[in-house]
Amino acid sequence: MAGSENVVAVLGTGIMGAAMARNLLGAGMEVRVWNRSREKAEPLADSGATVADSPKDAVDGAGFVITMLTDAGTIAEVLGEDTLSGLSGDGIWLQMSTVGLEGNEQLAGIAGEKSIAYVDAPVLGTKAPAESGQLIVLASGPEELRPRCEPIFEPMASKVVWLGEAGAGSRLKLVVNNWITGLLGVLAETVALAEALDVDPARFLEAIEGGPLGAPYAQIKGKMMIEEDFPTSFSAKLARKDTGLVLEAAGERGLHPLIAEAVARRFDEAIQAGHGEEDMAAIFEAVKLH
Ligand code: NAP
Repeated sequence: MAGSENVVAVLGTGIMGAAMARNLLGAGMEVRVWNRSREKAEPLADSGATVADSPKDAVDGAGFVITMLTDAGTIAEVLGEDTLSGLSGDGIWLQMSTVGLEGNEQLAGIAGEKSIAYVDAPVLGTKAPAESGQLIVLASGPEELRPRCEPIFEPMASKVVWLGEAGAGSRLKLVVNNWITGLLGVLAETVALAEALDVDPARFLEAIEGGPLGAPYAQIKGKMMIEEDFPTSFSAKLARKDTGLVLEAAGERGLHPLIAEAVARRFDEAIQAGHGEEDMAAIFEAVKLH
């Protein structure tokens, strides 16, 4: 790859962004990283990244900018007025955070105002798949950008699904996250019910394992609930954010998803009880409150 095609700015080196940046470095890309709390970006220097002092320093002259931050408001704030203008002439913004429908429109609008090519590319998969380069990218945006984006996605992903116009990726991402958070909510209540009925919840997980009811996800998150130990792959706080995005999008289309509403309430309770930074499986702590 020549020139700026090899240069990627990663804004946000939290759980996901740090792992993604590391895989880009492993693939031989020139990676500049920026993070609000610099100490989370600095370890990437050992793998060859340049730690930038500002988002603008990271982006100046890069061929790609990846945003992997909390939400659309944060991304807009971090980009400010002039960060994107430093991107190379035909540079591409790969927006990979989960921002929902309105968030995606807001960010696509910012890209449009600045005539920057924009790809809506949220991801499926959490900390471990991000570290092992096994994410699934739900990409949407101009078809002609696809060949240039593929080498950037390739080191981070086991699969890239191209879905059409920008926005399609964020829509599918919300659908999948509704499934994930709903499953998590009912899993928490099932583990709590087992305990209340003097059924060892480990027996419940054994009973469903390997059959059509035994989602691997239930095994992973169920064990966390049984042990009440929640090392963070995806924080309860961000899962609550995503449930909010689902409720907002559903409400605008005349749906009233009661399960998502209940899950949002449980997340609120878990966060209020101090579990917001723990893994989303800590929703279990809210179920146990009542
Ligand atoms: P994370 O570890 O909490 O990282 C969040 C990032 O946003 C950090 O870089 C944080 O900076 C930054 N940030 C938050 N508020 C900010 C502000 N006001 N100004 C500047 N920077 C700010 O989150 P993550 O798990 O990597 O998730 C990142 C995105 O990917 C989110 O949209 C999430 O929904 C999505 N996602 C996550 C997963 C997952 O399993 N973890 C999976 C798929 C998608 P500091 O370090 O300074 O706080």
